[in-house]
Amino acid sequence: MIKKPARVFFFVFLVVMMVSNRLSHGQDDSVMLKRFFTEALVKGQSYENLRYLCKNIGPRLSGSANAAEAVTWTENIMKSYKLDSVWLQPVYVPKWVRGKKESAKIISSSGKTDVNVTALGNSVGTGKKGIQGNIVEFGSLEEMKKHGDEVAGKIVFLNEPMDLSLYSTGRMYGKTGNTRYIGPQEAGKLGAVGVVVRSLTTSMDDFPHTGATDYGTETNRIPAVAISTNDAVILSREIAQDPNLEFYFRTNCEMLGEVLSYNVIGQINGSETPDEYIVFGGHLDSWDLAEGAHDDGAGIVHSLEAMRLLKDNYRPRRSIRAVMFINEENGLAGGTEYAKMAQQNKEKHVVAIESDGGGFLPMGFGINASDEVIKRVQSWSPLFKPYRLFVFEKGYGGADIGPLNDLGVPLLGLEPSDQRYFDMHHSAKDVFEIVNRRELELGCASMASMVYLIDRYGL
Ligand SMILES: [Zn+2]
Repeated sequence: MIKKPARVFFFVFLVVMMVSNRLSHGQDDSVMLKRFFTEALVKGQSYENLRYLCKNIGPRLSGSANAAEAVTWTENIMKSYKLDSVWLQPVYVPKWVRGKKESAKIISSSGKTDVNVTALGNSVGTGKKGIQGNIVEFGSLEEMKKHGDEVAGKIVFLNEPMDLSLYSTGRMYGKTGNTRYIGPQEAGKLGAVGVVVRSLTTSMDDFPHTGATDYGTETNRIPAVAISTNDAVILSREIAQDPNLEFYFRTNCEMLGEVLSYNVIGQINGSETPDEYIVFGGHLDSWDLAEGAHDDGAGIVHSLEAMRLLKDNYRPRRSIRAVMFINEENGLAGGTEYAKMAQQNKEKHVVAIESDGGGFLPMGFGINASDEVIKRVQSWSPLFKPYRLFVFEKGYGGADIGPLNDLGVPLLGLEPSDQRYFDMHHSAKDVFEIVNRRELELGCASMASMVYLIDRYGL
């Protein structure tokens, strides 16, 4: 039996504990975030994971042997974290292959000049002989349409630079992206025989940047390449000097149909409402020209590491899922298939978060959701202040989670600083060496923190 003064003391102690527990919620959160950030920076595994993905596996174009190896590797890593379940979701993906390296030349009356090109993803090849013909330049798709009668039988050069006046390079890409994505389709409609697109990059160099193109329903499918920005300047100058200038290019790519691949999914079951899901991830496939370090190896290791940090430090109320989507780059089959499954199984997704902006210094999250959701996320911004994340505003979520948004799921996208992203995007420059270890690790902790806060407070 407890003596009376001791009983009073015990009662007072209980009341104090209850009150302090109430008051310390925000403090709990800051302690948890501190734990995520400290662990990611001091004992993190993301950088070594990225090294393996880039150096031991390498480029991971959908349908390739490397992509299959990346699926198995990711599955094994998540299994090693002792999650409640790890599984592969079957997805049929297009298998497009580049074949031998491309070649291209400017042919003028004074001679031939080699230039740097690369085939656009999903485009048809030229055949062994390549194609040669007069080349006509336009500054935009609109300009080409306006002069549609000058296109038939020619190679079209779409020379639209990124709009450097914009702060966000993502916006620049959004503004110019259609030149590559539907340019060949539109030029085909006008009877062109080939297309050369200026690389979508902020840098001036000799590297061509690939990316998907889409012929849609157009039956005149014409070969299409991207040309480096330095060579775009040279080509434009030569065209201005010689209206009869010719251009030659040869590509060896082809579409080989569909093959079976997988999304890789890991889950921690929720302790209170297991039927509610918080999903986050990146895309496992990459272009074939480099190691896909920033795009999107970073998003993959961000997500793996966030899952590990959550598993080791927190028991979630809701079910938490990390998804390594396949085929973002040239088809979006993984994201589409995931949303289909979520709909068929009537799964309630609270939010979907994607990291597909590279492994650069995280600045915050773009939010594609209602004003109410945006306000809620903004209310957590003081917790991120010690880590210098301050962007919590209406924005973009991510391509792979886009199909979930069509089902009404709010989206968040990790927003790293994007000023250097399009220097290397989709080019041979996207290699492990250009990723900074600490910047990458801060992204992992940012993802884990956001998942934690959404789990704790809902959206
Ligand atoms: Zn990407």
